[in-house]
Amino acid sequence: MSLAVATPRTTQLAALTLGLLAGLATTSAAVAQGATALPRVRVLATGGTIAGAQASSTDYGYKSGAYDVNTLINAVPNLGKLAQISGEQVANIGSQDMNDEVWLKLAKRLNAVLASGDTDAVLITHGTDTLEETSYFLSLVTKSDKPVVMVGSMRPATATSADGPANIYNGVAVAVSPRAKGRGTIVALNDEFHYARNVVKTDTTSVQTFKSLNRGPAGVVHTGKVEWFQPMDRKLGPKSEFSVDKLDKLPRVDIIYAHANMSPDLIDAAVRNGAKGIVIAGVGDGNMTTPALEAAKKAARAGVVVVRSTRLPMGLTLRNNEVNDDELGFVASGELNPPKSRVLLQLALTKTTDVKRIQAMFYEY
Ligand code: ASP
Repeated sequence: MSLAVATPRTTQLAALTLGLLAGLATTSAAVAQGATALPRVRVLATGGTIAGAQASSTDYGYKSGAYDVNTLINAVPNLGKLAQISGEQVANIGSQDMNDEVWLKLAKRLNAVLASGDTDAVLITHGTDTLEETSYFLSLVTKSDKPVVMVGSMRPATATSADGPANIYNGVAVAVSPRAKGRGTIVALNDEFHYARNVVKTDTTSVQTFKSLNRGPAGVVHTGKVEWFQPMDRKLGPKSEFSVDKLDKLPRVDIIYAHANMSPDLIDAAVRNGAKGIVIAGVGDGNMTTPALEAAKKAARAGVVVVRSTRLPMGLTLRNNEVNDDELGFVASGELNPPKSRVLLQLALTKTTDVKRIQAMFYEY
């Protein structure tokens, strides 16, 4: 859609201006009171609806990634009371365009920022469409225990009741909260926050879209007040064996959606086109039609790693339940949905093609 993006006027102009003034006032007040004591949070911006603009505040349709990082930071009242904020732009795209190249660039930059002595925590702004994938990817390749929180928004920055500023405020509050260290990447939206491994987008337009369907949220945050719930019990961060340091690309892994009357054709096409791994978004407990199963078996015999996941929003894909994974040489995804299975399989394939080792990784991560 092509939109002539208006300079922020009416509601948004008021919101941005108020935010800017409040932000500036707070920053100078904080400096006067000795702001050096506040934690230093670096914002890495990548685009998305949170940086999106409509032609006017009630117009239908918008363009992602229209505003830059400083505009986003300055639109949040009182952010300077929580932390010393600085920002940089890593990308400015709708997250439907997120790809391996941006993931590698973002992960490398994140690790560099976290390793530098001048940052205590990082906040990443990102579109919501692929936030569940990027966050899981980052949680597996981040070499630091320092907090990393990702936020997005469902309404563009110009909308009436834009949710971005509150999500940024609460995201920073989570990032600087005393128990945030060592939790891996956290996704914070609409007063809840979630472990990257668990979180999924569940609603196309509602601000209450992110849920951890099997396990529930990692905690809640209300106007900057943070309450953590259960810890994460899987390997992540410095405990993960995966690293992006020497990578300039990731192995190709395709996701293929199962359905009634599924043909083997897309599985065959993935193999022909060079996929090193295939994730099946299976029906039920990772099932597919008999012809598709035959094609998947052939792919596995040819050395392509096949992971069975499910197109269902909840539950686990169990090994050797209805499908004999031992005999067919498949991996069962357990709790990981297809996009997260794809992330783990891409990283697993940077280490090994051994199906048993990869199955162990799906239990560990
Ligand atoms: N398509 C947008 C994106 O993912 C949606 C959003 O950010 O909410 O960038």
